[in-house]
Amino acid sequence: MLKESIVAELQKIVGKENALTSPEALKAYSYDGTTSWVHEPDIVVFPTSTQQVSDIMKLANAEKIPVTPRGGGTNVSGGSIPIMGGIVLCTTKMNKILKVDKENLTATVEPGVVLQDLTIRLMKDGLFFPPDPQSFLGATLGGIIAENAGGPACVKYGVTKQYILGVEVVLPNGEVVHLGGRTLKNVVGYDLLHIFISSEGTLGVVTKAELKLNPIPPAKKTIMVVYADVAVAGESVFRVLENGVIPDKIELLDNWVINRIEEMMPMGLPKDADAVLLFEVDGIPEGVEKETEKIVEIVKKYGAVDARVAKDQAEADKYWMGRKAGFAAVFGKAKTVFAEDVTVPRGQIPALINKCKELAKKYNVEIVVLGHAGDGNLHPAILTDINNKDHYDRSVKAMDEIIEGAVELGGVLSGEHGIGLEKQKFLKRQLEPAVIEMMKKVKALFDPNNIMNPGKIWE
Ligand SMILES: Cc1cc2nc3c(=O)[nH]c(=O)nc-3n(C[C@H](O)[C@H](O)[C@H](O)COP(=O)(O)OP(=O)(O)OC[C@H]3O[C@@H](n4cnc5c(N)ncnc54)[C@H](O)[C@@H]3O)c2cc1C
Repeated sequence: MLKESIVAELQKIVGKENALTSPEALKAYSYDGTTSWVHEPDIVVFPTSTQQVSDIMKLANAEKIPVTPRGGGTNVSGGSIPIMGGIVLCTTKMNKILKVDKENLTATVEPGVVLQDLTIRLMKDGLFFPPDPQSFLGATLGGIIAENAGGPACVKYGVTKQYILGVEVVLPNGEVVHLGGRTLKNVVGYDLLHIFISSEGTLGVVTKAELKLNPIPPAKKTIMVVYADVAVAGESVFRVLENGVIPDKIELLDNWVINRIEEMMPMGLPKDADAVLLFEVDGIPEGVEKETEKIVEIVKKYGAVDARVAKDQAEADKYWMGRKAGFAAVFGKAKTVFAEDVTVPRGQIPALINKCKELAKKYNVEIVVLGHAGDGNLHPAILTDINNKDHYDRSVKAMDEIIEGAVELGGVLSGEHGIGLEKQKFLKRQLEPAVIEMMKKVKALFDPNNIMNPGKIWE
């Protein structure tokens, strides 16, 4: 519970209308994109300028009040949940696209800009920002930077950190600093910019960002490839790449997910397939034609049952709409869902899929698989119910072993969702003790009072 004087101070900084304390507001800001954890803040503030963010942080630091930055609240690792109460600092009113610089292929944005709004604005200039988390309708640039988000297009274009040239950050003590810049190359001193990208709101608040953009490629094509065995689908991913084609997207849906999507909204996905891979290739028209033919040839050679090239954009859009519904399909089906984001070297995708199958049998739980197969980043999801202790406990064990299995296969325990509240216990399995120590020192350096999103990444 905050002292009345602190609430009054915060109201003075952001205005009464931008400082919410009603029970409804506190409830609304106690969630992330899941139902796994809930914790209410004492107040939710909506700053509208860097100066206001700085004033909030100065006050919080002096009074040692926890501050949890929040954008769209779509993360799925507990990152935006104010687990220790205090202030939720929500950036959704700092949502201006300040500049689109066509000449330099850059844009300057405030942190609360929603990705979809940016995409629509950039289309006017024939440009796009490649990182495409499938939460684009709600995810903000601040959250995308803090999570180093990725999406289907990462296969060819890479993740968020490859598209952030610079950021303005308010440090926990309220100081405003600028990291990186506006140029493609920059080797001036240590690369502090990239410490912030994926720091999950634990080091400071991003208040402005300089984005690197690409021109929209003139042509693209979608291919839906059908498999009788999900592990064979996994193999197709690296077969296509090793044969010299780099599609911009390769996404996987298994039989359970296909059927669930078709139940929710029929999209023409093959219900009897064990899995499908959705490929998209983009570039100049001649190249796209050739690469499409090549993909069809390769996937058939390596065991696909069928490969359908979408005849037009409308058919392609249907398939991609199905993929976008993937998370909703999974989360809407069970009281509790564990949806991981383990990532393995692409050659190990079949092994990871087989591991999931083996664990589903061992623990007698449903493990469904979807995700960004082109990056080796799968979302094995276990459908369970926290109120069914026996099933829940078996699910936890299965998930622990999936994560361990991914690390043993040379992978990582999180490819895009971050550590948040959920995966702290696994850090020791991935990182050497000396590396953990260094990271903790970085946290202490930026945030000696541990007020910045406390309880995340580190217990
Ligand atoms: C349906 C669905 C699909 C998804 N698909 C993908 C996907 O394809 N790829 C992917 O990578 N993720 C995906 N996600 C996860 C999530 O959407 C992303 O992590 C997204 O980047 C979060 O953005 P947000 O604005 O909602 O951030 P929030 O959820 O509000 O916050 C996320 C983290 O960032 C911190 N933060 C927010 N704003 C700031 C700021 N200005 N400064 C510092 N820290 C800040 C928060 O404290 C928190 O730790 C998906 C989630 C859902 C629900």
